Amino acid sequence: QRKPSVEYLNRIGATGGKIPLGLKRKGLRVVVTGGAGFVGSHLVDRLMERGDTVIVVDNFFTGRKENVMHHFGNPNFEMIRHDVVEPILLEVDQIYHLACPASPVHYKFNPVKTIKTNVVGTLNMLGLAKRVGARFLLTSTSEVYGDPLQHPQVETYWGNVNPIGVRSCYDEGKRTAETLTMDYHRGANVEVRIARIFNTYGPRMCIDDGRVVSNFVAQALRKEPLTVYGDGKQTRSFQFVSDLVEGLMRLMEGEHVGPFNLGNPGEFTMLELAKVVQETIDPNANIEFRPNTEDDPHKRKPDITKAKELLGWEPKVSLRQGLPLMVKDFRQRVFGDQKEGSS
Ligand code: NAD
Ligand code: UDP
Ligand code: UDP
Repeated sequence: QRKPSVEYLNRIGATGGKIPLGLKRKGLRVVVTGGAGFVGSHLVDRLMERGDTVIVVDNFFTGRKENVMHHFGNPNFEMIRHDVVEPILLEVDQIYHLACPASPVHYKFNPVKTIKTNVVGTLNMLGLAKRVGARFLLTSTSEVYGDPLQHPQVETYWGNVNPIGVRSCYDEGKRTAETLTMDYHRGANVEVRIARIFNTYGPRMCIDDGRVVSNFVAQALRKEPLTVYGDGKQTRSFQFVSDLVEGLMRLMEGEHVGPFNLGNPGEFTMLELAKVVQETIDPNANIEFRPNTEDDPHKRKPDITKAKELLGWEPKVSLRQGLPLMVKDFRQRVFGDQKEGSS
């Protein structure tokens, strides 16, 4: 791997290549694509807090200005409405590449656009990283494992993905994005990092994005039945967003390319998740069964041994601790501020 440039090391105040988090340093110039989205906006908050200059590049397909509006007027913050499928010229030190719809409902809405975003969008950001010598981090996904035949999933597992299914625009798109990232690393010496993110929830998720946690929470608050797809025995492992952001920053600052699984190993069936939502919001919430979607993975749970060992990272917030934090935000957005505290 190419050594970081002297300019880069000076900028981050690093000595000897070790770059511990929280080190006193000069601000970096960081671009966050998809920074107006759910995960991106939480990452932007942490980078701003650290004193970096942050440029958000977002086309607002699923992102919202409200997520980053609190930084408007700060000279260290800039927001560019731009589609990553088009080239862009910027001068930056780090690129966190998140731009891509993440909810199945959103990424299936225009599958060809999802593929372009993953392939052409990632190519453009890697071209940018190559031109300016920036470090590049790809937010890939646990979906690269498809409907996994290995459980829990380890980074060395190559996955079980349907290349011609309705989810392929996303999972094959992300697999190609990983390939591009490694080819720019091997072929053009770009410094890269790959995170494979498992299901993440928290404040600022789109209320009606169709993902299971946002659906259940909004449904329980609105006194609607919780919609369980299929028999509800399929599993997912849910990570609170602050844990993910910590993992992404450790990965970017560390010395390892990855890929790294970033997720919470706590595994729940959808029926168990519905129960936790009932306990947290409304014990009387009803459950309604609906047909499941095509190619839905039966189980998913990260093996995070690698991230523990090499990044010194593991999630701290359990589902029962994290859910109330999300409910507070959803309650305000569903009912408006005046009803905060009521159900
Ligand atoms: P999100 O939909 O809230 O955010 C995605 C952001 O990217 C939005 O602001 C959207 O407007 C923007 N965007 C989409 N297409 C774009 C384009 N062509 N050009 C510019 N901007 C574009 O989703 P999220 O949950 O915050 O996910 C962020 C990243 O993390 C995504 O890459 C996603 O694949 C990955 N990820 C998320 C999860 C999760 O559970 N949240 C799991 C695995 C991977
Ligand atoms: N690119 C970009 N910004 C830059 C540099 C490159 O958007 O600052 C785009 C460029 O338009 C191209 C892609 O990134 O579509 C890949 O660039 P690279 O230089 O690797 O390849 P080439 O332009 O030679 O095809
Ligand atoms: N699901 C559900 N009810 C909903 C939405 C989703 O039971 O209202 C299920 C879905 O079938 C899948 C799981 O929850 O098995 C996770 O779906 P989500 O869309 O949140 O994320 P995925 O992991 O599939 O990308």
